[in-house]
Formats: sequence, structure tokens, C-alpha cells
Amino acid sequence: MSRTTRLVLHGGAGAAATRDDKRTCAHLSALGSRCEAMLTGGAAALDVVACAVAEMEASGLYIAGRGSRPNCEGDFEMDAAIMDGTTRRAGAVACVRRAFSPIGLALRVMQDTPHVLLAGDGADRFACKLGLRTIGRPAEYFVALPAADEEGSMHGTVGAVAIDLSGALAAATSTGGTSGKLVGRIGDSALIGAGTWADEAVAVSCTGVGEYFIRAAAAHEVAARIRLARMPLGQAVDEVLAAIAADGGAGGIIAVSARGEAVARWNTPGMKHYLAETGERRHLPDN
Ligand code: ASP
Repeated sequence: MSRTTRLVLHGGAGAAATRDDKRTCAHLSALGSRCEAMLTGGAAALDVVACAVAEMEASGLYIAGRGSRPNCEGDFEMDAAIMDGTTRRAGAVACVRRAFSPIGLALRVMQDTPHVLLAGDGADRFACKLGLRTIGRPAEYFVALPAADEEGSMHGTVGAVAIDLSGALAAATSTGGTSGKLVGRIGDSALIGAGTWADEAVAVSCTGVGEYFIRAAAAHEVAARIRLARMPLGQAVDEVLAAIAADGGAGGIIAVSARGEAVARWNTPGMKHYLAETGERRHLPDN
């Protein structure tokens, strides 16, 4: 049994240094504390990351769930993925329009189907079939953020990674994607190994311009460095972000390892995040 728990949350790497993110920071801080208490109280990492991401989706404070941005035709299409490091089981949804909680639906894909990824209409129909809460009127559901908030907020994907008392790791990511994206565009968040990954050694969630993270297989690259090169987690994350930057991409990565490391790194002006290391320190966004 591992004695310590680790938790990191992110709310997107699009934070601008000048932007007032007080409400989001307060939300992240309160949510992080609650999730940390769940972990120290014995909750499973998988349940904690699912719960954290579902709450961020429902808050409307991030570009995920309620806060999603419209695509180029004014519709909302959301992506999400979750992975259980112990079993390597994973569930994901892409381009969903009706699911109230894309991460909740991704979890059900993992638990209730033999598949990993459901997309579009099929995923929405699966949500209805399960009797999950769906969005009735999109225009009333989605929160239109004030124009001032749009600035510097291109990336507001949410993610959570955790290790629980038993040593199990899990990762979850959810997004409304990038503003003005083409209809049907799927980013890295929904793709296992690109924006989301968990195995027995590490759990990873990414945010940023998804196309770069997909081409880098970013989340899995972090895991590969841990497994094959036995690299410290911070170095592994830094190397992957450096490769993305060299390709012209920008974003951030959060990760926790079975060795007890917890990391939040970004190559944008800022990343909204919460990093808790039980009994050691708390860290809130620096923007
Ligand atoms: N990675 C997300 C996507 O490309 C966007 C983000 O992280 O803000 O869909």
C-alpha cells in the first residue's frame, strides 16, 4: 500500500498573465482540496478524477462542458477521455453534442462497452440509451463567456490526474475543443495516448493545441520516458513539451507518478492548475 496520495488538476493552458482568473482559481482551489480529502479518505483515483472533471465541466468556468466554445457553424462539440492505470481500461467520447457530462459518458463507455472511443451521434445516442442527463436546449445550457474573458483563453480544457492510497493511478480530460474548429474536428483530449494516459507508473493529462499533442503522442511519450528511460517525471514532461514547442505547438501537461512525483508544466503564459502533495505544499496558478 502506498501511503501518500497525489493530485493535480488543470483548467487549461491559455491563461494570460493579465487576465483576472480569481473565480476560476478559487473554484480550482476548493475543488482540489475536496478531491484531496477524497483521496486521503480512501477514494479510488479513478473516481476522484472523474468527479473532479465532471465538476469542472458543470461549472461553466472552463472551456469544457458548459463553458465549451462553438465550432465554426455555431454548434458545440465536446471531447473527453478517462483511463484507469491499473487495468489500462479506457473510455472516450468525441464530438458529443447532447451529453451533459462528456467525462461521465466516457466513463460509461469504459465500463459498459467493449469499446474505447465513441464519436458523434452514436455517442449521444449511447448517453440517451443509458438514461444519462442530456442537454435539452444548447442555447440555454452553454455559458457565453464575456468577451473580455475570451482574450487569452483559447485553451481551457480541464484535466485531473491522481494516485490513490492503494497506488492506483488515473487520468481524465475534457474539452470543448478549440474555438471555431471545423465541424467534426477531434482534438487530443479524447485520444488515449495523445491528451490522456494512465498506466501502472504514471497518469497524464494534456492541454493546448491538440493537433501538436496528437502528432507527438504526448501523454504516451511521457509514459514511455518513465518506463524505458526511467526519467524523473519533471524531465519527461519538460522534454515532451520541448518537442511540442519545437514543432510550433503550445500548451501544458499535468502528471503524477507511482514514485510520488507530481508535476504541472506549460510553455504558454500560464496554466490554471492545482497541485497538491499531501502534507507538503499546495500551489495555485501563477498568473
Ligand atoms: N487540447 C484541446 C483540443 O485541442 C484544447 C485545449 O486544451 O484547450 O481540443
